[in-house]
Amino acid sequence: MTHAIELQDLHKYFGRNEVLKGIDMTVDTGQVVCVIGPSGSGKSTLLRCVNLLEQPTRGKVFVQGVEVTDPDVDIDAVRRHIGMVFQQFNLFPHMTVLQNVMIAQQRVLKRGKSEAEAIARENLEKVGVGAKCDALPGQLSGGQQQRVAIARALAMNPNLMLFDEPTSALDPELVGDVLAVMRQLAEEGMTMLVVTHEMGFARQVADRVVFMDGGVVVEDGDAAQVIGDPQQERTRAFLHRVL
Ligand code: ADP
Ligand code: MG
Repeated sequence: MTHAIELQDLHKYFGRNEVLKGIDMTVDTGQVVCVIGPSGSGKSTLLRCVNLLEQPTRGKVFVQGVEVTDPDVDIDAVRRHIGMVFQQFNLFPHMTVLQNVMIAQQRVLKRGKSEAEAIARENLEKVGVGAKCDALPGQLSGGQQQRVAIARALAMNPNLMLFDEPTSALDPELVGDVLAVMRQLAEEGMTMLVVTHEMGFARQVADRVVFMDGGVVVEDGDAAQVIGDPQQERTRAFLHRVL
């Protein structure tokens, strides 16, 4: 069976620093997998290896059955189907919200202006910021900006979404709106790989939780089990610190 994402013995070095030490992991179509773990454990690097924002040193990455670590693969074509949402929203500050959600549609997917605008409005509506189309990002709260970033990713019709601590830069009272949008996406069947410190979200929304520490997967299992009844001492110690 073809997994949405499959990592096989993934290693990543930065210089002599081995940051990923042989990761094996799968995400199936329609699954939500949350990756948790301490700062510096390699979570962002792992996520960035999926769409080759980082080049793995060794091992293989498959996205929907296509080996993206094969040097002959058209990585731009693969990336077109992968949405990514970062901790920092990375919106263009001088463009309106609407323009932010239109530009990649026009440039990358070659959609015409009116089609791109319609799709942008539809997705901004979906994430609850439809009234902000003409605002500049700086006029929005962090939570609204992050929802614009999610709408921008969705407008590209991704087959799967990668989230790297999407709520970590937000004031606590703004976190819930962003998690609600992510939960809605999960319920609609979006395949999602989510690095997060939001244990409530992981427990309630994820199919599986993967605990990473020191560049290895320490524990990978059912979300309620890993968070509620971890089998490994390192997982227990981490959860004890964050819960
Ligand atoms: P996490 O997201 O779990 O906090 P990261 O994947 O960001 O962890 O980082 C894992 C390790 O890799 C850290 O020691 C970090 O300093 C190092 N690292 C990450 N990106 C780079 C880079 N571009 N160059 C050198 N070292 C990096
Ligand atoms: Mg990180």
